Amino acid sequence: MVAPLDIAVAGAGPAGLAAALYLHRAGHRVTIFERFHEPSPVGSGLILQPTGLTVLADLGLLDAILALGSRIERLHGADAASGRTVLDVRYNARPGGRFGLAVHRAALFGVLYRAVREVGISIETGIELDALETGERVRLLCNDGRNLGPFNLVVDASGSRSKLRRHVAQPAEPRPLAYGAFWTSLVWRGEGFDEHALTQRYDRASVMIGVLPIGRSEPGGDKMAAFFWSLRPADAEVVRAKGLEAWKERVLSLWPACASYLAQIDSFDQLTLARYGHHTLKVPAGRRLAVIGDAAHSTSPQLGQGANMALLDAAALSYALKTKGDLEDALGAYAGARRWHVRTFQALSLMFTPFYQSDSVLLPFIRDRLVATAARVPPAPQLLASMVAGTMIDPFRPIGLAERNWSEIGTSPTVAAVETV
Ligand SMILES: Cc1cc2nc3c(=O)[nH]c(=O)nc-3n(C[C@H](O)[C@H](O)[C@H](O)COP(=O)(O)OP(=O)(O)OC[C@H]3O[C@@H](n4cnc5c(N)ncnc54)[C@H](O)[C@@H]3O)c2cc1C
Repeated sequence: MVAPLDIAVAGAGPAGLAAALYLHRAGHRVTIFERFHEPSPVGSGLILQPTGLTVLADLGLLDAILALGSRIERLHGADAASGRTVLDVRYNARPGGRFGLAVHRAALFGVLYRAVREVGISIETGIELDALETGERVRLLCNDGRNLGPFNLVVDASGSRSKLRRHVAQPAEPRPLAYGAFWTSLVWRGEGFDEHALTQRYDRASVMIGVLPIGRSEPGGDKMAAFFWSLRPADAEVVRAKGLEAWKERVLSLWPACASYLAQIDSFDQLTLARYGHHTLKVPAGRRLAVIGDAAHSTSPQLGQGANMALLDAAALSYALKTKGDLEDALGAYAGARRWHVRTFQALSLMFTPFYQSDSVLLPFIRDRLVATAARVPPAPQLLASMVAGTMIDPFRPIGLAERNWSEIGTSPTVAAVETV
């Protein structure tokens, strides 16, 4: 085990908060630095897969997140014009009682942040980190000229626009993807929507509309839904210029059932434009530096793995520091333990995204005619279920975790509590 270290964690997103909890628990002295004055989550909802849920369980936070999120059993997508099903992935195609848990970002943030506060990890806010100065120890340079440290190790969890990852041996920056999306959180309206499914409608690959039940952002809050409309960021201004009513009419013409969600949107200000990029660091570590989460690998959310990979990275780093005797070996072990899982899912995401978000006419044609049929023939349903769950490559064994049998959760008092909160 690496002796207790002074560790700076850059960024208070899922990766940074989870890493801080793990490292504090292992006896290291941890400080989190966050650029926002009030740490807060950005964006709408996301799906926690069995991978991310396993990490949260390991941190003792499973019940807290189950009590807020919405259990997802199925991902279902249909062609808007014909209504024909073109995507139908069910977690239960594999044994083990797996499910996804769709959460409001504020719920995930709140659960991790409260845990960080409870154990007394210090968080310094309003600090924008710009660079590192590495010698025997490492110092953090801020954009206002301040110089923080020294530390034994910096954990870069500052997301896809990280400025610190350039200190690894082979840095890489995200390549912008053609499509992004308007996202918003709205009050959940059942009205024909399955509360346990991500439901989508497509028109070729240039239109994708989605409704995801995401549970509550905080205990006692309203049940919410994430609503998204995919578009090229470059076209966002044109859409806005044509006006909200024109956009709503277009959505309704493709998916009339969305009326109760659209009725909650009064202004484009309610819609956040998300831009996606894609990059993967060859080795997410440098001298006295570990890079985790979106800082190490960003992609489109098509496969819904980003936050889950961020949580796995945090667990992997902590496991490497626990099982290796020296910092350099531990950083190498962290990078090695995550290599194949990260590379596989980054490649899958790059391959699948254009089938759902692109200007291609051929790819959605293949998706709708060939893939939709082939996906029903075993072992395709099982493979798709493992892909969505994030377990097509075992992420657990290399980082000392074991996945539980989720069937127990289905009958536990926890889920009864989820459904009646
Ligand atoms: C629209 C959308 C939908 C998504 N859906 C899913 C999904 O269904 N499932 C899923 O698993 N993932 C999803 N993702 C991806 C997921 O949100 C990210 O993978 C995840 O948030 C990464 O966590 P992180 O902690 O690495 O980075 P972030 O969440 O980006 O956190 C980084 C933190 O670092 C801080 N920071 C940044 N720069 C600095 C600096 N210079 N100095 C100090 N602090 C800094 C930021 O303020 C932030 O708090 C989605 C993403 C988007 C955009």
